[in-house]
Amino acid sequence: MRYIFGAICACTIFLVPWFMLHPETARIVFQPVQAVGDELASVIFSHDPVTVADLQSDYNSGSLFQAPRKVRILLVPGHEPNYGGAEYGSLKERDMTVQLADDLQAFLSDNPHYQVFVTRDTQSWNPIFADYFQNNWNAIKSWEEAQKNEIQNLTLLGEFHPTGSQVQHIDVPDDVALRIYGIDKWVDENDIDIAIHIHFNDYPGHSSVQPGKYSGFAIYVPEGQYANSQTTKVLADAIEKRLERYNAVSNFPGEIGGIVPDQDLIAVGAYNSVNAPSMLIEYSYIYEPQFTNPNLESTAIKDLAYQTYLGLQDFFDSPDASSTDSFGTLTLPHAWTSPTSSSATMASSSAIYALQSALIADGDYPPAGKSLNTCPRSGKFGPCTEAALQAFQAKYGISGEKGVVGSKTLDRLNKLYGQVIKVI
Ligand SMILES: [Zn+2]
Repeated sequence: MRYIFGAICACTIFLVPWFMLHPETARIVFQPVQAVGDELASVIFSHDPVTVADLQSDYNSGSLFQAPRKVRILLVPGHEPNYGGAEYGSLKERDMTVQLADDLQAFLSDNPHYQVFVTRDTQSWNPIFADYFQNNWNAIKSWEEAQKNEIQNLTLLGEFHPTGSQVQHIDVPDDVALRIYGIDKWVDENDIDIAIHIHFNDYPGHSSVQPGKYSGFAIYVPEGQYANSQTTKVLADAIEKRLERYNAVSNFPGEIGGIVPDQDLIAVGAYNSVNAPSMLIEYSYIYEPQFTNPNLESTAIKDLAYQTYLGLQDFFDSPDASSTDSFGTLTLPHAWTSPTSSSATMASSSAIYALQSALIADGDYPPAGKSLNTCPRSGKFGPCTEAALQAFQAKYGISGEKGVVGSKTLDRLNKLYGQVIKVI
């Protein structure tokens, strides 16, 4: 779930009645603001956004004589240790986000081009951030005010256009919001190249005991007027392409298409406050079946982390992982071991999850007329899997095993998806 701030509303509430009551004074105030307009824009609005070229040159830097300048990535598991976020049954978003951040950190840390920071674990803030918040609390407040003033001035000058948000966000207490501003501030002070805020989704009014009606992932990016919007969009597109191959894109109104520009989210740089590309990924809705099955939850989360990593590698056009992994999911290759004429005996969630991945990779899943929203990778063998399996069998001329995994189907699956296929 996401955070909001209330600046635009506060601005409207305070300014409109005041100008209506004091039209003379209003003009006087406006004149100097307009007179210094250009200067204001160039002096206060002196952002130095991280460009796509900056990132790619850092990634490829280094030589025999010079150490490489690593790409510095900050991972921000959404919400606070022991506080906040979506909950469903025994699932807690604030802990799932840490799990995904840790998995993603592991993939990134195996690659010498990256240096990774994570803001917290399930119990506490990383000491770097705990100290930063404690020692800079008032400075963060003043910085937030300055960013806010800049945007309000530019709005008065007609150089910034408030658009609001397409999606309703969840309001949070001031201290929680200020810590996220603190993270934004820290990002620019510490030359972070990419910030990724990790969340799992829910929506207002959803019952806490029944699965909801929406599913899929969405990536929130800074709205186009913000300095960090362009680079974030290019990065987010690369990650989106990797995620959408195996995961549903959100069908929540406002999140359709998977990439959501937003002005209000602190995490993506509200008030134009971040130079580094910064995105907030809602990886899935928390009640989706791959998470409610305890045998699958960690597999599903790790796969999302892996696909995020592959998206970054695609952005950097690096051959070390993405182009040699023709599957794009950790669930493949998979060795299926139990030939059977009954789907019931192939009941291991991970075997079915891998089967669904294989059927996606082969172009049979979701079955015709369905989407990954209605037929997600679930680890359950139901009508979606059965229909897709029939299409797979028809394509390869497998008969006598209609809609179940018999020995011929198993052989074919293992031949196609039981081993790594390297693309040179
Ligand atoms: Zn959240």
